[in-house]
Order: sequence, then C-alpha cells, then structure tokens
Amino acid sequence: MNALQPLIDFVARHPRLLVITGAGCSTAAGIPDYRDENGAWKRQEPMRYQLFTGDTVARKRYWARSLLGWRTMASAQPTAAHHALAQLERAGRIQLLVTQNVDGLHQAAGSQAVVDLHGRLDTVCCLGCGVRSPRPALQEELMARNPDWLAHDVHSLPDGDAALEGLDFAAFDVPDCTACGGMLKPDVVFFGESVPRDRVAAVRQALAQVDAVLVAGSSLMVYSGYRFVEEAVAAGKPVVAVNRGRTRADPVLTLKVETEVGEALAKLNSGQASGLAVQI
Ligand SMILES: [Zn+2]
Repeated sequence: MNALQPLIDFVARHPRLLVITGAGCSTAAGIPDYRDENGAWKRQEPMRYQLFTGDTVARKRYWARSLLGWRTMASAQPTAAHHALAQLERAGRIQLLVTQNVDGLHQAAGSQAVVDLHGRLDTVCCLGCGVRSPRPALQEELMARNPDWLAHDVHSLPDGDAALEGLDFAAFDVPDCTACGGMLKPDVVFFGESVPRDRVAAVRQALAQVDAVLVAGSSLMVYSGYRFVEEAVAAGKPVVAVNRGRTRADPVLTLKVETEVGEALAKLNSGQASGLAVQI
C-alpha cells in the first residue's frame, strides 16, 4: 500500500477542509525555518514588538538586516506544496487556507481563499496613521539612504532577516512615514503582538463549516495557529498533519504523516481522482 494512502483516504472522506500552513511549505523556496524538528529555536528568537517600537537602535538593526534579507523573500517562488494546495482549492476542497507564513507564496501559486494570520512582509504599515505601502518602494528608499550597507555579504535568515552583526547600526538611516512622520513597521505580527480580530473571526467562521483540518508544514508551536486545532478538536472535527518532526498537536491528531510536505500534498491531488471515483 502507498504510505500516503491513509492521508489520501482521509481527504477523500472529508470534502471540505480548513488548511493551516507554516514554514515547512516555504523552506524548499529557500526561505529558512525558525525551528528544528523538535520545534525548538534554531537561532535567536525573532523580533519582539516592544523592542522594535521601544529601542531605536534595535529598530535600525532590524531594517539594516531586512535590507539584505528582503532579496531572498522578493525572489522566492512557490514550492510544490504551494502549487498542490492551490490545485486542491481549485478542485473545491479547501474552504479556507490559513497561513502562518508572511511570504505571500500561497497567493503567488494561485490560492485565493487565504488568511495571512501573521500578515505580509511585502507590505509596510505606519504605526501613526495606519497607511499601508508596498515594501519594494521602501526597499528602494532604504537602498538610496544606505548604499554602503548593500556590500555586506550575508546569509539569509527567516522572515526576510539576514545574519548581519557587529556593525554600527545607529548609523543606519530609516525613513519615517511620508504622510504623518510616524514609525514604519513591516505589516507582520511580531512576537508580543496580537493577531487582528477580523482574521481570527474569518478562520473561526470557516472552521464552523468544514469537515476536518489539514495542517501542512507547521510545528504549530505558536499559539495563534495552534488554537484553531484546539477549537477544531473541541468541536469534534478531525485533524491531520503533514510535517517532518514533532508538532504541538501530536497528542490530538487523527492522523500524522511525517514526510516532505510538497511530495505528500502532490500525491493528494493525484490521489483525489481515484478517491472520489470510489465515493461516486
Ligand atoms: Zn503615517
């Protein structure tokens, strides 16, 4: 029997899915993951909201690293996992896709019903007036103000970060909002920040309508994503996870598939035809 048959059967039995995705869907696109297979931090923790807004040098350091790390994000292309989920949506099987990623690659692959739970790195928001603007425009501005910084040759880190250390970050020049002079921030949910209520409400509304939850490429270590698994289980809905390594939801999963997520999801699409044929 195909090792993925239980997963194919599960999806065949549950026609309407809520999908929750994480970093595992994007690592094949060259976007690094924060956590190892045990769900522990590989490096230092990501930026916290209080530090970003309260410490000028920390904020400059964030944007200096982001200036270099953005190149990886901007050039990333959807992976097999993104394409497979877009295809599954076109087949009418996905009610809503909730992603914890901030790279926009699900939309790039063609998925339409997507909630970006933690926001999008390709957008910048002003903490003063709330206006949103495209990140590529800010990138141009950062490059113009800090041309010497582009020469640093560094490797990329998660969420558009880069391994830049030991420099005089106070000298990095970050623009303020052109409309109000307020502080600019990437339009992502930092640690220490809450997910906007309308996003949570949209997920809950979809959760009430689906037959099951499919977790793809996430350890679910962050509560903002994990809580939807908790709520699904409380509502008696089965949860399946495709993920290499431990997930926080392991004790409550109906089915766990430990394999490369893109490969498994692609099989799901090719398996759908036969699965549905049996039902009909
Ligand atoms: Zn503003």
